[in-house]
Amino acid sequence: MKTIYMDNNATTQVAREVVEVMLPYFHDLYGNPSSMHSFGGQVGRKLREAREQVARLIGASPEEIIFTSCGTESDNAAIRSALMSQPGKRHVVTSRVEHPAVKGLCTQLVHEGYRVTEVGVDSEGRLDMDQYKRSLTSETAVVSLMWANNETGVIFPVEEAARMARSRGILFHSDAVQAVGKIPINMQESVMDMLSISGHKLHGPKGIGVLYLRKGTKFYPYLIGGHQEQGRRAGTENTPSIIGLGKACELAAQNMEAENTRVKELRDKLEETLLARVPRSRVNGDRVHRLPNTSNISFEYVEGEGILLMMDEHGICASSGSACTSGSLQPSHVLRAMGVPFTMAHGSIRFSLSVYNTEEEIDYVIDRLPPILEQLRSMSPYWTAGEGACASQG
Ligand code: PLP
Repeated sequence: MKTIYMDNNATTQVAREVVEVMLPYFHDLYGNPSSMHSFGGQVGRKLREAREQVARLIGASPEEIIFTSCGTESDNAAIRSALMSQPGKRHVVTSRVEHPAVKGLCTQLVHEGYRVTEVGVDSEGRLDMDQYKRSLTSETAVVSLMWANNETGVIFPVEEAARMARSRGILFHSDAVQAVGKIPINMQESVMDMLSISGHKLHGPKGIGVLYLRKGTKFYPYLIGGHQEQGRRAGTENTPSIIGLGKACELAAQNMEAENTRVKELRDKLEETLLARVPRSRVNGDRVHRLPNTSNISFEYVEGEGILLMMDEHGICASSGSACTSGSLQPSHVLRAMGVPFTMAHGSIRFSLSVYNTEEEIDYVIDRLPPILEQLRSMSPYWTAGEGACASQG
């Protein structure tokens, strides 16, 4: 059975071109880029090229690129550095819908005695800008707001938020893990101080990330040891992955146009057809300010995990907005923050496409999913108790 992969916000297929550029650096060109000999030096030159490729994708200069092990490390390093560089300020502003890489760290910071404000979102997942403005104080060391949400694809007005922070002398970090490679980003035109990137979200390898650090921003390294990355991130460089990420960034720049036209059209066809064919379904999140590849749809009165299991039998890969933790299905913190009704949140599915998806795959899902939902609903006591009568309302 063919795999129909529509879970690209979880991870992406490493592009063939990326694998090709990486391969020589495992077995043949394994030198340490910091070595004095030319065998290592040739790897160092390739790393410089990769740094330039990454910088080009986000309109940064190569010295502003720090290679890390993942998006999570970049997020942690950015926020920790901002706090360490301003010991007198012990307040962090973030949002209620951040990825656990930021949310989990903020919970830890509270245990350490920091104050954290989580700004709320409305029912469409849009940031409450009034609350955001009010939350910025003279005590605030750093703001960390995601560029685009991994579950709904909703894009925050991060530039506007960054300008507000800058005007109050507050450092600004954005977790741009889901945005980089999907929508244009130009740090030259931005006032943000720090930005996180993850390789495996843009057809690069897993286990490689980037922290963009604006020139002149005070930085306290998270990992201390060797002098790699100009002393900003110790540890021998993951050379094959860095080189692969460079190539992935080059490809992402080339594919950006297709991502925002063809992929968006495929996403819209999938979304609109499912909404039309499946009664009691709706899209979660702002449909305008949204990543071109993401659609989070709720199908009322069905369990998301049930849908995933049945789609899996047809080779379709997606994600649900609920997680089975400690035996109870808990809707995601993102959908709860948006106030998505319980019966809707439980039946939410995230489809996230990539340039590798085809129209045939969209047609396949459109064909297979409605009968799956009908079957699941026929087993739901809520649906059969009368809600099914609402089916024609759409
Ligand atoms: N931030 C966001 C918005 C993400 O979606 C993810 C991964 O799902 C991360 C951070 C973490 O990235 P990584 O898996 O590279 O640690």
